[in-house]
Amino acid sequence: MRNLFLTVILSAITVACAETEQSTNASAPSVESATVQDLVDTAERIENSTGWFEILKLPNDVYALWEPGHVEKVNSFFVLGSDRDLLYDTGMGIARISQAIDDLRKQENLPTKPIIVVNSHNHLDHNGGNQEFAEIWTVNEPWAIRRLTSGVRGGEEGGFVSYWSQLRDHDGVEPPADFSPDTHAIPPYPEDQIRFLDDNEKVDLGDRQFAVIRTFSHSPDGIALYGAQENLFFGGDTFYGPEYLITDINLLAADLKRIETLPIEWHYASHGAQLITAMQQGKHLAAVSRMINGEGETGSTTFAGFEIPMQQLDGVAVVVAPELLLY
Ligand SMILES: [Zn+2]
Repeated sequence: MRNLFLTVILSAITVACAETEQSTNASAPSVESATVQDLVDTAERIENSTGWFEILKLPNDVYALWEPGHVEKVNSFFVLGSDRDLLYDTGMGIARISQAIDDLRKQENLPTKPIIVVNSHNHLDHNGGNQEFAEIWTVNEPWAIRRLTSGVRGGEEGGFVSYWSQLRDHDGVEPPADFSPDTHAIPPYPEDQIRFLDDNEKVDLGDRQFAVIRTFSHSPDGIALYGAQENLFFGGDTFYGPEYLITDINLLAADLKRIETLPIEWHYASHGAQLITAMQQGKHLAAVSRMINGEGETGSTTFAGFEIPMQQLDGVAVVVAPELLLY
C-alpha cells in the first residue's frame, strides 16, 4: 500500500545517502554528531505501561515517544512548558499515547497541565492518536482537513493489514493485546475540534515559545517548529536529515530557503534517531538548487517492483513521489 511504500523509501534513501553531515552551519553552534548519537544512546528511558512506546528523556525538557515496534520508527515529542506542555504528533494510534504521557508525568513528577497537540502533518504515522485529545492544531489546508476528518479505515480497505503484515518481528516489541491489524483504524476526527495555526504564529507554552514554520514539500500541511530561546528545531518529515521525500523539488527549495538562516542547535527528528546533527540547510539548499538546474546524479530506488526516481548531489538525496505522499 502507498504508506508502506513511503516507509521503505525512507529506508532506501537513508541507505543510499550514507554520507553524514560532518560539520555544522557556520552560524549555528550545533551539537557534534558523535555527541548527538551519544545523547540518544544514553538517554534515560522512562518507564510506561503501554509496552509499546519507548520514552527517551532528551535535553531541553524534551521527551521523545517513539514506536520501535513499527518499521516507521516514528517519533512524537512531548515538550515541557511552564503553563502548557506541547505534544508534537500523536504517533500511529497503535497504543494510547495519552497513557504514555500520564505515566511519564507520574514517573518524572511532572504536574498535569493542558497539552497543546500539534500535528507536524497529517500522514497516518503522525496523527493516529489524535482522537485521544479534545483539540488538535494543524493548518487551514483542505488536504489536511480531509485527512483528519476522513481518518483511515480499517482492514484491507484501509490498507493497514498489509502495512502491518510485512513488518516481520517488530523488533521484539509486542503491540497492545487489543490491537489487531485486521481491525485497526484511525477514526475520523471531528472538524469542530480542529484548530488552525498560521505561518510565524507562536505556540506559547508560557516560558518558551515555538514559531510555526509552514512547509509544503513533503505534504501541503507541514508544520516545523522553532524555539528561538534554545535554538530547538522540530522538522517533521520535511526536515530530518540530508534525505528528502517530497512532492515537488521547487517546493523543497522554497522550504529550505525559509529556514536558511535559522541557527538551529538541537534538531529533533520525526523518524529514527530522535536527535540528529543539526542540518546544514544552506548546503542542502545549494545542492537542491543545483539539482533543479539538472546537475544531480539521477538514479532510482525500488520497492516491490516499483521504480522511483532519486537524485543525489553533495550528500543530499531527493526522491520526488507525489503519488505516494498525497493520498
Ligand atoms: Zn512520517
